Amino acid sequence: MTARIIDGKALAEQVRSQIAQRAAALAARGEQPCLAVLLVGADPASTVYVRNKVTGCEKAGIRSLRFDFPANVAPEVVMAKLAELNADPTVHGILVQLPLPPQFNESEVLEAISVDKDVDGFHAENVGRLSQSREAFIPCTPHGVMKMLESAGVPLVGAEAVVIGRSNIVGKPMAMLLTNAGATVTVCHSKTRDLAFHTRRADILVAAVGKPRLVTGDMIKPGAVVIDVGINRLTDGPDAGKLCGDVDFDSVLPVAGAITPVPGGVGPMTITMLLENTVISAERAARRKGL
Ligand code: NAD
Repeated sequence: MTARIIDGKALAEQVRSQIAQRAAALAARGEQPCLAVLLVGADPASTVYVRNKVTGCEKAGIRSLRFDFPANVAPEVVMAKLAELNADPTVHGILVQLPLPPQFNESEVLEAISVDKDVDGFHAENVGRLSQSREAFIPCTPHGVMKMLESAGVPLVGAEAVVIGRSNIVGKPMAMLLTNAGATVTVCHSKTRDLAFHTRRADILVAAVGKPRLVTGDMIKPGAVVIDVGINRLTDGPDAGKLCGDVDFDSVLPVAGAITPVPGGVGPMTITMLLENTVISAERAARRKGL
């Protein structure tokens, strides 16, 4: 058996064209969707992510505002900008690119973003709403994974799902979304005693670790759906310089029923969901204004 490839790039293109139509309809009603992106410092990975977000906005007809601050900026300066953007009715989404330099308290910054404009879904109120299955902005990467599972027709109710990783931005919200969808969820992490024991029981396995090729074919239940969130740059060996996931694609492919590649899997869906959250926020604003 060879696993079916779940093509995140193709799905992202399809979803982005729907988002562009919704953005155009909003603009025609006088509510042009707008995302503000704040970057502190010049971390190379963060700079690339911010650039991709801004480009994604442009292509979807979403206005973007980008604010760059030096790495040594005083937190009050960033907080003042957030207050200004919160109060600006033409701005629908605000995100602060993480990680932040050490002078910042990350939670304080995230909670200074208005809950209604928190399109990354990292504000404690949105996290709490998600945990209660209430309407919330859902963090973009796990939301993108759910869209991929849905588009691939993967049954979730009653499925055994295993999530590797318990971060606030991927693992925890992923586990919550799968639980809300009716799966039986196990969360594994760096202190898990026997990772393979858990992964071998999974009908759906989501790897969000940051360790190249951690998950190998012998850890997979035959026919399982394997979602690889990891993005790792290989530093040595014949593939040095290339990107790879947390899943050892070559050994998992013959065992799994479906698998997402890296690149071209979860990555393209993440920014897509950010654009969708921005449009959702603008649609809410338009409704509030009676447009
Ligand atoms: P993180 O470092 O915050 O969390 C990693 C998690 O993995 C932790 O909970 C840790 O306990 C767990 N872990 C570490 N070693 C482990 C091991 N040996 N066995 C089991 N669990 C282990 O990382 P993150 O922000 O959640 O990101 C995870 C990966 O996903 C990274 O590669 C990151 O680049 C990638 N990522 C991709 C996207 C995307 O758009 N595709 C978005 C966000 C993050």
